[in-house]
Amino acid sequence: MTERRDSIQFKKNIPLSRHTTFKIGGPADYFIAVRSIKKLKQVVEYANENGMPFLFIGGGSNLLVCDRGVRGIVIKNGIKGIRRKGNSIIARSGEKLSRIVDFAMQNRLSGLEFASGIPGTLGGAVYGNAGAYGKCMGDVLVKAKIMKRDGNILDVDNDYFHFLYRWSGLKNSGGMLLEAEISLSPGCGEDICCEIERIVAERRRKHPAHDVGCAGSYFKNLDPPRPGARRIAAGKLLEQVGAKAMRVGNAVVFEGHANFLTNPGGAKCEDMLKLVDLLKKRVKERFGIELKEEIIYIDEEI
Ligand SMILES: Cc1cc2nc3c(=O)[nH]c(=O)nc-3n(C[C@H](O)[C@H](O)[C@H](O)COP(=O)(O)OP(=O)(O)OC[C@H]3O[C@@H](n4cnc5c(N)ncnc54)[C@H](O)[C@@H]3O)c2cc1C
Repeated sequence: MTERRDSIQFKKNIPLSRHTTFKIGGPADYFIAVRSIKKLKQVVEYANENGMPFLFIGGGSNLLVCDRGVRGIVIKNGIKGIRRKGNSIIARSGEKLSRIVDFAMQNRLSGLEFASGIPGTLGGAVYGNAGAYGKCMGDVLVKAKIMKRDGNILDVDNDYFHFLYRWSGLKNSGGMLLEAEISLSPGCGEDICCEIERIVAERRRKHPAHDVGCAGSYFKNLDPPRPGARRIAAGKLLEQVGAKAMRVGNAVVFEGHANFLTNPGGAKCEDMLKLVDLLKKRVKERFGIELKEEIIYIDEEI
């Protein structure tokens, strides 16, 4: 069902299980996919004028949405565009990260290979400072365009984000990334292609199959025990407490990687949260360590 308000066509009661890679989540009261900055601004201003809460999402690959769904407007980012400027790439935030990685390869630009196989959009990746293989988005982003919650647009540089491990300042400000400039360096096309293929093949081996609901690593890795050391993998701790293949209802710990919680079909958010509690309790009891979520939990009230 749709509803037209101020020339904006909203869909009503759209299950968010359709828009998250976990395939979990109840209905959004209002849902709209935006394909331009102008449309996003119109929706944001409408929401503000009418006191309606809103949530801006990308590929839904880092979200666990509650079974009751979301009371407000869910805006799905479909703002796309990608171009080269010297040794940089300027991309709109609704572009899939994988498409930007491919674009870099086609242009023989190196530096983004680490992001191969990370699902979702550029916007989600910058929001959570996504990374792998020791590199993250904060290492390559130089400039960006942001829309503040009031609809105003700002040009900012890397400092604005205060990037940390799986963290950017967007988590505090609620600002929406519109576009980013990613600085890369000229490289050998064949080397870039080989590295991407190697990473994608490794991910395919280690990750759950595509049709299994999953949102990547559920918990953050822990701070390194001393400067210069590597982070302690949450998956290792979970493995040692016998997490692999544990389940609550249809929420299951992946056998191949204890930090991947999965929904093979029919899992409820409630099951997932019970499983998470159980896992955290076991790790706390055994190691005295409080695991922290990397996944973003979306409650009914946004
Ligand atoms: C199989 C698998 C493997 C994964 N591997 C990795 C990995 O190696 N490294 C890693 O870091 N992550 C990994 N992830 C997690 C996830 O893919 C990343 O966090 C991804 O960057 C999220 O992007 P998204 O567009 O799906 O964001 P969403 O899940 O849609 O949103 C996540 C958060 O970002 C916010 N957001 C989205 N777009 C914007 C925007 N334009 N402006 C402001 N805020 C925005 C949303 O409001 C939400 O709070 C993996 C996930 C899966 C399923």
